[in-house]
Amino acid sequence: MSLNFGRTQLAIPGPSIIPERVLNAMHRPSPNIYHGELVDMVDTLFPDLKAVARTKHHAAIYIANGHGAWEAALANTLNRGDKVLVITTGRFGEGWAALARTMGIETQILDFGLQSDADPEKLEEALRADTNKEIKAVMTVHVDTATSVLNDVPALRKAIDNAGHDALFMVDCIASLGCDQFEMDDWGVDVMMTGCQKGLMTPAGMSFVYFNDKAAAARETASPSFYWDWTPRANPDVFYQQFGGTAPTHHLYGLREALNIIVHEEGIEAVWKRHATIAKAIWAAVDTWGGGDSNGDKSNVPLMHHNIADPAKRSTAVSAITTAPGIAGKVRDWCENEAGITLGIGLGLAEPGTPQWDQQFRIGHMGHQNVAMTMAVLGSIETALIASGAEPGSGALTAAAKILAAH
Ligand SMILES: *Cc1c(COP(=O)(O)O)cnc(C)c1O
Repeated sequence: MSLNFGRTQLAIPGPSIIPERVLNAMHRPSPNIYHGELVDMVDTLFPDLKAVARTKHHAAIYIANGHGAWEAALANTLNRGDKVLVITTGRFGEGWAALARTMGIETQILDFGLQSDADPEKLEEALRADTNKEIKAVMTVHVDTATSVLNDVPALRKAIDNAGHDALFMVDCIASLGCDQFEMDDWGVDVMMTGCQKGLMTPAGMSFVYFNDKAAAARETASPSFYWDWTPRANPDVFYQQFGGTAPTHHLYGLREALNIIVHEEGIEAVWKRHATIAKAIWAAVDTWGGGDSNGDKSNVPLMHHNIADPAKRSTAVSAITTAPGIAGKVRDWCENEAGITLGIGLGLAEPGTPQWDQQFRIGHMGHQNVAMTMAVLGSIETALIASGAEPGSGALTAAAKILAAH
């Protein structure tokens, strides 16, 4: 007999859970793409997309995933042979740098490993050393989804200013937008990109690139192709230019509904607070399990710990967790096969097939998350721990409940 029955729940760090209302908003006949309701509706998306990013500047929509937004940001601001400085704090920073290299861009890497955030002093030092001002852009992730680290974007901005450097500051908010607080204009970010399938709760397939006037000026000396050029997308003369062709019709209706929820109902600041509360509940459970015994033999191997030790440096969208040998793999399998809950694998912290691979899991808690979903994930993990022969003790769910109850 299997207990696996009923609704499944995705708890990976993207794509995230899609609200029923978003799914229902997409369920309609194909609209006219030349004039009328769709065209009018799309105009309403831009102010709300900007409200989520806290910017008054420009936004372009791409029919692409986050990798497409990565490419769009670089194609509009840089040329082959240009040099950039890339901050890496995990797999996603590395991935963006690798993509830049395939575009003929020279990358200087400032690596902070897999367990810590970027050090602004090191950034300032690297920029001061660039006396010929060869570095055209500083690229960083806000949250690295692989390690779950949260980088201090205002501190990095300050480091650039302290060094007196005029490189563009580009931030990947694909994991964090609509989860962790982000203030594009107040924090002095020139280019920011995000995807629709994480905090924005819409099926994967669209991404957004935001840019200010400084970045728009850089566009004048870059040479993006027709398709990636952000200028007509942000300031179209005719509707199709917004998408470089046919609009992603149904995705746009889904996004409209997601933005109704985020901007007009809950409010972006409440969205951040909800994510913070849910994250703290998850962290409290993990900390409590961490005091448990890994295999019941009282060998005192901690059952699990957070990949990022300092809570102030953790994203509230995703948690990367390392367990005692063998445990994470069993937990992931049990949750998927018996509870219908899919947890994330440990991206970039270990290679598949190695023993360390079975010590990593991630919980995605971005976007459409509530108390019931949070406790379903935590209760299922605790059940999976017991099924795996670990002794998680009994305090973890109570620790989480206390935080949710006291919000
Ligand atoms: C998910 C993610 C990406 C990649 O997005 P895709 O849609 O998979 O291309 C890039 N950066 C970060 C921080 C992410 O979380």
